[in-house]
Amino acid sequence: MSSYNGKLIRLNLTSRKSQVEDIPEQWMKEYLGGRGIGVRYLYEELKPGVEPLSPDNKVIMMMGPLGATTAMSVSRIALVTKSPLTGAIAKSVMGGNFGAFLKFAGFDGIIVEGEADKPVYVHIDKDGIKILDAAELWGLDTQQTHQKLRQKHGKSTQVACIGPAGEKLVRYAILISDLRCGGRTGVGAVLGAKKLKAFAVNSAGPLKLHDAEGFKKVNKEVIEGLKTSPGRIKMSDFGTSYLTLGFEKVGIFPVKNFQEGHLEGVEKIGDEALASIKTKNDGCYGCMTKCGQVRKVTGGTYDGAVSEGPDYETIWSLGGNLANTDKGSLIAADSLCDKLGIDTVSAGNSIGFAYELYQRGIITKKDTDGLELNWGNHAAMMKLVDKIGNRESFGKLLGEGTKRAAEQIGKGAEDYAMQVKGLELPAYEPRAVKGYGLVLATSNIGASHMYGRPRDELSGKKDRLTEVDKGKDIADAETSQATQDTVIQCSFGPVTGFNSQQRSDLLVAATGFKEFGDPAYVEKIGERTLCLERCFNVREGFNRKDDTLPKRMRTEPLKDAGPATRQTVKNLDGLLDEFYDALGYTRQGIPSEAKLKELGLDWVVKDIKKFSK
Ligand code: SF4
Repeated sequence: MSSYNGKLIRLNLTSRKSQVEDIPEQWMKEYLGGRGIGVRYLYEELKPGVEPLSPDNKVIMMMGPLGATTAMSVSRIALVTKSPLTGAIAKSVMGGNFGAFLKFAGFDGIIVEGEADKPVYVHIDKDGIKILDAAELWGLDTQQTHQKLRQKHGKSTQVACIGPAGEKLVRYAILISDLRCGGRTGVGAVLGAKKLKAFAVNSAGPLKLHDAEGFKKVNKEVIEGLKTSPGRIKMSDFGTSYLTLGFEKVGIFPVKNFQEGHLEGVEKIGDEALASIKTKNDGCYGCMTKCGQVRKVTGGTYDGAVSEGPDYETIWSLGGNLANTDKGSLIAADSLCDKLGIDTVSAGNSIGFAYELYQRGIITKKDTDGLELNWGNHAAMMKLVDKIGNRESFGKLLGEGTKRAAEQIGKGAEDYAMQVKGLELPAYEPRAVKGYGLVLATSNIGASHMYGRPRDELSGKKDRLTEVDKGKDIADAETSQATQDTVIQCSFGPVTGFNSQQRSDLLVAATGFKEFGDPAYVEKIGERTLCLERCFNVREGFNRKDDTLPKRMRTEPLKDAGPATRQTVKNLDGLLDEFYDALGYTRQGIPSEAKLKELGLDWVVKDIKKFSK
């Protein structure tokens, strides 16, 4: 017995057929789960150069071996594909209940391939897997889709779906399950191109464990510790909103599209201000923290708006980034993004880009459908979110992402596109926290805040502003994140509660695979996953030239940012060398043959030689 079901569903939408396949045991041992097994499948099955929105692209959804067990905060699901926003690998992790119920139904994952000739959804229950007509669902927002599917299949049905943005191929469309999101870099658009509106699961469970008693013993210890953990309690009380005020003080919280680091009135969107309109917590299956903060606006323009959020990233993207301190508009815009199924980070960053172009006269009201894009104008922001999600006129351009939009606009607009590899920067100012700058530059999916977290720099334990001796720390942070995403454990440090040995003990008790008992073996899986993602990108033509930061970060001194005022990133090249050396990559950012062999990736060597010429 094992917590792995050992099976996945392969859906071919072109032929409208599904089949159940075994996952090779060797892959479970070498890639563990989630992001690791997802990347392994994608590398194996996708030819280089595939157009991301074509039937040839695939979406891999994969659970981890601890998912759906009683361990805390480990029941999320990884989404892996080739991104229509960046052309690079896409990895993301979605919370909620969907993944756990997929496991209860007897599957560890789903591979979606092909393209349906008309809209479909997939229903999974004890009677099998059915690909069904979705004509009634197409065009509905994500909440309406959940409602319809629950009316049809029962209240306990677990749903994951795309919204109108995914249907209309907005390049940063996402997948939504209840109030949780996943799929930054456009997984929603890939599913939309395949005309797959939703997944609905009704499952029976329960899951079997290799050593249920052993598992229970370790898990009990972990849970006891979690009950009184101050970090966990803070996450439960405020979610990540508690980061805003502290980060703004030290210049990490970018303002006006990264032009400066101080937001007048930031306390109006700080943790206490948002807590004052909180109605309840919500979150993922098997998590005692439930970091999601459900908030409701009463009074004013946005009276009645409800959202599970915004989190720190969205407080920034639709708030600080636009010099917007109206908390009602933040709730309303966050909710609208979720209903439409668009990523709030890329949406807010793209809107900030448009505001700066307007500030500089590069675009005018003639280009913006008559909207006045002045900083702080939240009414215009709401309209733009709607236009992006529905891919209408000016919103259609912004829904392409800042890189493509800048290319179309011309007139020097690319200088104001805050993106790396085509993915919009998140809520971390690289000039104020240089290690995070290195993560954003080197992340294989583009400028993601979920690709490695330099915790000691963020907390101030390590100097944020020096630009030497950081490559090894960042290599370790990216490896650690990759390991977490294979397990799959929540990335918010205090909420899982286990140390690396306890994690290993839980993995062995759940699966029976003795190899997992060594924490170093598990960490190596993270390194292998990270390396294979880089190899995927090398096959697509990526190398050192793509590991960079926007020109602004390298040349323009940061304004009004507390201790980070006047900072630029001067030594990105030196940091890249350190980072590559630490991971065993060449100075071109390509994994060396020796490193590939050390990681058991010998079978990739031929590819890398061919594509890195
Ligand atoms: S802390 Fe939040 S994101 Fe993490 S597992 Fe719990 S509810 Fe999900």
